[in-house]
Amino acid sequence: MEKVDILIIGQGPAGLSSAIYTARAGMITLILGCAPKVAGDYEIDNYFGFTETITGKDLIDRGRAQAAKFGAEMRCDRVLAIHQNEIGAFVAKTEDVEIEATSLILATGVSRIRPGISNLGDFEGKGVSYCVSCDGFFMRGKPVVVVGEGNFAANQALELLQYTPDVKVCSQGKEPSISEEFRYRLEENHIPVLKDKISSLAGEKGLERVVFESGESINAQGLFVAIGQASSNDFAYSLGLIRNGQFIETDREQRTNVAGVFAAGDCVGRFLQISVAVGEGALAGRAAINHVKDRRRALLDKGTA
Ligand SMILES: Cc1cc2nc3c(=O)[nH]c(=O)nc-3n(C[C@H](O)[C@H](O)[C@H](O)COP(=O)(O)OP(=O)(O)OC[C@H]3O[C@@H](n4cnc5c(N)ncnc54)[C@H](O)[C@@H]3O)c2cc1C
Repeated sequence: MEKVDILIIGQGPAGLSSAIYTARAGMITLILGCAPKVAGDYEIDNYFGFTETITGKDLIDRGRAQAAKFGAEMRCDRVLAIHQNEIGAFVAKTEDVEIEATSLILATGVSRIRPGISNLGDFEGKGVSYCVSCDGFFMRGKPVVVVGEGNFAANQALELLQYTPDVKVCSQGKEPSISEEFRYRLEENHIPVLKDKISSLAGEKGLERVVFESGESINAQGLFVAIGQASSNDFAYSLGLIRNGQFIETDREQRTNVAGVFAAGDCVGRFLQISVAVGEGALAGRAAINHVKDRRRALLDKGTA
């Protein structure tokens, strides 16, 4: 398994800013994530130091070049799941590899994608879940549906097999964008991918059925939301991070409640602007460097004790 000091998820202003600090401090730094939304032809007029209007693409390109200059590695790879292992390191599973990191910086921005199911909120905690590793256990032997169109949904569906054989993926009316390898694994495990759109949920005390736009319905006691790519919320669920609504709670140093995990930028939800993301990224970078140094010292002390 690939090992790094600091894994940064997100290649936007927050993640790149963190990387400039961590790589410059000599930390083995890997940034995962593809071009952020702002890296288009959008005009940025309010970022410090640029009297002429700069495009989002130019700004992000500059940030990437600066992080690369100090040795940070960047890959457009999506993280599907993260967990903390028995030695306290963080293991991220991407579409291609697994990476172990001493410290983790979440800089994933905000996800505004909703499944568009009218009464979803009424069933949260009563069958609707956002976290297989948290709630999959409650679904032992029960029929479940994963809502999502991509590899994240496919991976969640495959993880559910450890609890129940009755798993379906529903792409919610979208054309599935599941890679060949994941498609093969779904087929092999008899997990169908339905293209119908779920419009509402039904059940007395908890979820019993999902109802499609067509009016047809199927049995489902669990519904796992996994639309698009995994978001900071999904990582927060699986790592046990405290949230405030859809945002991750951090202190002034960008520390979350889990030692070694830091968050910065829009996923923290203070003021959704580039300047704030860059500032928080720097703080998260500094805190992550200190965490790695502390871990190294602790290991040395253990070795000499
Ligand atoms: C069109 C537009 C115009 C804007 N204009 C301005 C402006 O003029 N001035 C201003 O200050 N702000 C502006 N903003 C807001 C600004 O872009 C954001 O506040 C800023 O980009 C937040 O940075 P971030 O690094 O937190 O997140 P983002 O820039 O959103 O980056 C998130 C990163 O996380 C990655 N990611 C997410 N999930 C995963 C996953 N599962 N695996 C791997 N990677 C993942 C994404 O690929 C991306 O690289 C604009 C935003 C948009 C969309």
